[in-house]
Amino acid sequence: MGGPEGFRRLVEEVAAIYEWIEARKQQDPARAGRCQACGACCDFAAYEHRLFVTPPELVFLAARLGARELRQMTDGRCPYQQGAACTVHEQRFAGCRIFGCGGNPESQSEWSEEALRRLKALCEEFGVPYRYQDLAAALAEFRTDTCRSAAEPCPGDGAG
Ligand code: SF4
Ligand code: SF4
Repeated sequence: MGGPEGFRRLVEEVAAIYEWIEARKQQDPARAGRCQACGACCDFAAYEHRLFVTPPELVFLAARLGARELRQMTDGRCPYQQGAACTVHEQRFAGCRIFGCGGNPESQSEWSEEALRRLKALCEEFGVPYRYQDLAAALAEFRTDTCRSAAEPCPGDGAG
């Protein structure tokens, strides 16, 4: 991944993708829908919804939170939800940013495809194995898979 400098650059690139998503939503609010932050869709089991994420998004989350703060998903709910609130709002995943009630599904799908294309390109550029995984599996595999395969300590991991 290119050592600490590689991590830093990868995190910056993910931030840029998230900024692109937010800008796209602002340009086209009618298609973006309106999230009232009710938290319903973060309870995946109850909402019958799944969230898929990629390794760069978890590297970003780990870098911003510290790897020791990564949580496992132990039930059907996102582990970062507390009550109705998202405790990682600024670090939330691409899918969380793109999905909004009342939005245009085709536009959301287009934005999602573009975000994934960019995230996949980052994996290729930084030598991170690409995965598109359900959040529970991605969190379970992150430290042993993504970090060790890149022969790097996780950002914020005291062991490194
Ligand atoms: S996208 Fe919809 S269900 Fe999800 S938190 Fe926002 S308003 Fe609630
Ligand atoms: S990261 Fe936040 S917005 Fe995304 S599913 Fe979890 S609690 Fe919801």
